[in-house]
Amino acid sequence: MIVVQKFGGTSVGDVERLQRVAQRIVDTRRAGHDVVVVVSAMGGTTDELVDMAAQVNRRPPQRELDILLTAGERISMSLLAMAIEALGVRARSFTGSQAGIITDTVHGKARILAVTPERVRDALGDGDVVIVAGFQGVSRETHDITTLGRGGSDTTAVALAAALEADVCEIYTDVDGVYTADPRLVPAARKLDRLAYEEMLELAAQGAKVLQVRSVEFGRNHGVPIHVRSSFNGSEGTWVVPQEDMVEDAIISGVAHDTSEAKVTVVGVPDRPGVAAGMFTALADASVNVDMIVQNVSSDGRTDISFTVPRGEVEQATELLGGRLEGIGAADVIVNPAVAKVSLVGAGMKTHPGVAARMFDALSRAGVNIQMISTSTIRVSVIIDDAHVDDAVRAVHAEFGLGADAIVEEQGAG
Ligand code: ASP
Ligand code: MG
Repeated sequence: MIVVQKFGGTSVGDVERLQRVAQRIVDTRRAGHDVVVVVSAMGGTTDELVDMAAQVNRRPPQRELDILLTAGERISMSLLAMAIEALGVRARSFTGSQAGIITDTVHGKARILAVTPERVRDALGDGDVVIVAGFQGVSRETHDITTLGRGGSDTTAVALAAALEADVCEIYTDVDGVYTADPRLVPAARKLDRLAYEEMLELAAQGAKVLQVRSVEFGRNHGVPIHVRSSFNGSEGTWVVPQEDMVEDAIISGVAHDTSEAKVTVVGVPDRPGVAAGMFTALADASVNVDMIVQNVSSDGRTDISFTVPRGEVEQATELLGGRLEGIGAADVIVNPAVAKVSLVGAGMKTHPGVAARMFDALSRAGVNIQMISTSTIRVSVIIDDAHVDDAVRAVHAEFGLGADAIVEEQGAG
């Protein structure tokens, strides 16, 4: 059996924890499995490197930034290999490039195009434990080192698991699995035993930080079973699996929230064909990640268009559109960084009408005003004032009875 195990930054946060992780890996190896480990930088390291770069250059060249950031994972991968060897098991570490993680050329958020893990296979064939640095790859075109975006080690792990046809990709983290909501906000939140890829995709895309979105896409596209579990205990976590493997269908799986986006409004946009296309093409060409878009009803041939972007890209977006106001024929660009997105996700929405109405009602009873709304077949998202995010998440979570309390009550009543 081939097992891919990914350990996040907190799991290897200091030397002691790293040694505990080494022990866990050795146990898996001694149980007779082929083990490929993907490791993140020790907790906080990536942030420190980003800070240092910002101190020497307000806008660090992306190529250099990527080389710098990959250093964090190189430190943890080599230390981990050493710790494993100290326990009497042979281990060999590889950078993303050495492990055959081939990406496009977009620094800072490169996409994996191919995985050619020959060296990994050879090392496994020799009986070694393989450690791979997460979050990084190499462009075949430029031969430059790239990174996969924050949280990218998850994607390295699932992509490797797919390429190696591993039996499972275990994502070890500092929580017990995927919860119905962030337990820090909602103490009654409950750990989910199983979740469909599609639901996990929506939750991850809407702010649940437990898995990087692209890792779930990889899992779904290649059918890799993903097991999200705690690195601090041995309990079962959450399995992310195909929809058809879901034992029972809950209507709603969880509530995600995201305070990392800002709202941009372009005011007084001429309401004629091609204007929105022009605006959003310019943003796309600059690789700005636009999320929710809302266009108002127009009056006097003009309308307002609002959209959300990651806060880190808002400056770029406003500069870009600000510089084109005349070309677009719009009046102004306004930014509101103080917004939050709250999303309700569940595969059962497809067949159960009225979910959105109940969510809006719960929000209104909590006194939360809705600024924007967007939906997919299995999700309803709203943009609200970020000061109300805690109340909003709790209200929606309670409305749909997602908490541990709710279940006990139901059983008690039944
Ligand atoms: N070290 C990188 C980060 O902090 C990648 C990862 O942890 O997955 O985002
Ligand atoms: Mg992570």
